[in-house]
Amino acid sequence: AGADVPALRVNDLTVRFAGLTALDAVSFTVEPGSVHAVIGPNGAGKSTTFNVLSGVYRATSGSVRFGDEELTGLAPHAIASLGVARTFQNIALSPYTTVADSLMLGRHRLTRTGYLAAGLRLPRAAREAARHRERVREIAEFTGLEPYLDQPAGSLPYGLQKLVELGRALCMEPRLLLLDEPVAGMTADERRRTASLIAGVREGLGISIVLVEHDMGMVMRLADAVTVLDFGRRIADGTPDEVQRDPAVVRAYLGQ
Ligand code: ADP
Ligand code: MG
Repeated sequence: AGADVPALRVNDLTVRFAGLTALDAVSFTVEPGSVHAVIGPNGAGKSTTFNVLSGVYRATSGSVRFGDEELTGLAPHAIASLGVARTFQNIALSPYTTVADSLMLGRHRLTRTGYLAAGLRLPRAAREAARHRERVREIAEFTGLEPYLDQPAGSLPYGLQKLVELGRALCMEPRLLLLDEPVAGMTADERRRTASLIAGVREGLGISIVLVEHDMGMVMRLADAVTVLDFGRRIADGTPDEVQRDPAVVRAYLGQ
């Protein structure tokens, strides 16, 4: 899967806030087409890692490369247009926007003609708009959101809103998908469905995935590799089996 998907290389990444080192020289590599989990207790630096990867935070030092591209210091939209999409730990949808329009937002970086042109130069813009609608419908089908397309995103149960976020990220046609606690707050049934969806994204679409997750069962089921953070430091790195048996990891989780 994903022969043309580049590897993500995080090298000696350090992020300091006033008086606090949120990440301390963290390194890991996400192999092309794999699911790579980043786990660790609360405050370990997982979301900070995502915020640097997506350009929301600036690294104090270190680098992030995606294939031949240096992501370090790029703005969020520049990183997104290289094919790196993310979801947020807390829902970032506009509640009154319909599911269809929320998904369509993910298409915007792909719109060549732009909004003004879309109103003026009909034939090409209309073809493009039709293609976007078609893709939104496909993603809605893939994620199981099709029955809700016309409803305001905010009217859906929490678990479905999380799926809209995932769907919107997929609409960006990413090569790398960053998922921050995708099943947090979901029911057991929604978790199971989301887990097979994520497996399908990797296998069916050949997209690499970095998964921040609290649910260890989910990590063990889905991840090819795991990086464990604790207090901003990498304390373990390996297969799910390896890290699960690592005494430093057991200590970090028991100490919570
Ligand atoms: P996790 O996602 O693993 O729970 P975070 O990456 O959110 O952890 O946080 C790591 C540490 O960095 C925490 O101590 C947190 O309070 C701190 N932190 C995160 N973002 C900021 C910020 N914008 N300003 C100051 N401190 C921050
Ligand atoms: Mg977090």
